[in-house]
Amino acid sequence: MNVKKIIMLSTGGTIASKRNPETGLLTAGVMSGEELSNMCDLPSNIDVEVQSVFQIPSNHMTFEHLFTLKDKIEEVFENQEVDGIVVTHGTDTLEETSYFLDLVISDERPVVVTGSQRGPTVIGTDAFVNLRQAILLAAHPESRNTGTIVLFNERIFSGRYVQKRHASNVDGFTSFGFGYLGIVDQDNVSFYQKPIKREVYTITNKLPNVELIKCALGSDGRFIDCAVDFGASGIIVEAPGRGHAPPFILESVKKAVTKGVNVLLTTSANEGEVKTVYDFPGSAWSLQNEGVLLASDYDSKKARIKLAVLLAAGKEIDASYFN
Ligand code: ASP
Repeated sequence: MNVKKIIMLSTGGTIASKRNPETGLLTAGVMSGEELSNMCDLPSNIDVEVQSVFQIPSNHMTFEHLFTLKDKIEEVFENQEVDGIVVTHGTDTLEETSYFLDLVISDERPVVVTGSQRGPTVIGTDAFVNLRQAILLAAHPESRNTGTIVLFNERIFSGRYVQKRHASNVDGFTSFGFGYLGIVDQDNVSFYQKPIKREVYTITNKLPNVELIKCALGSDGRFIDCAVDFGASGIIVEAPGRGHAPPFILESVKKAVTKGVNVLLTTSANEGEVKTVYDFPGSAWSLQNEGVLLASDYDSKKARIKLAVLLAAGKEIDASYFN
């Protein structure tokens, strides 16, 4: 029998947490990948090699960490004997890292990202089942050519759409409006659907600073001004509904665009698209007239990652990248 070879890259998170006896609280990321995998009942018919890349809680992730992780994955895939990669990661920024990897890793072999909501030493932990199923998924032939996927709570999600939807429940992830790609039931992997579109970019430059600014009732443009003053290359402006911002941001938006900052408009709704439907000040139409690009159904954090990737790939940004 051909034994599959999977590389597990650990980056920290709750799945690698231990209780600090002094505070009684969990410290995410202190467990090495080796310790974690030794505690888990790994599939015996798969050769799993563990490498610890970072040992951090995922709120400590930066664009530099993303770049290092990408380089590591490309280095691992240079070995043609490797069948797939599992990345263990904190859940808080997992949706951003998984989309970043989806956009930059071109290899057709699977990259599966997983984590856990309960630490490995906590009662009812989901750490081991998620890790075991992520390894089975990475070794499964149908996972190839699917981009970066996420395994959580027995479900398979696309990195493009997955979002953390619950702060603590083991059913912590979803893909609003799009559903999951399949399931892993005990040791059986079943895909029901696959993404029809795949975008991969070659990035050579550093990921630039892209800010995310959420508008609420009565918001004005002060944070947009501030982002421009601090040299942001891009700003994601998140507004309610079809992309309807308070009119008080318009002047700041205009200034940002004039200075060459890429400004993108997203909706705070979980589903549906930013669209030009109304002509009042602050509408998507009025923002578009000031040079803002409409980011259709992109979640704001996904739009931020994509804009940073496009800029790092040297692309001239236009709305077609976000259709
Ligand atoms: N704070 C943790 C992290 O993202 C939460 C988790 O992993 O669930 O690293």
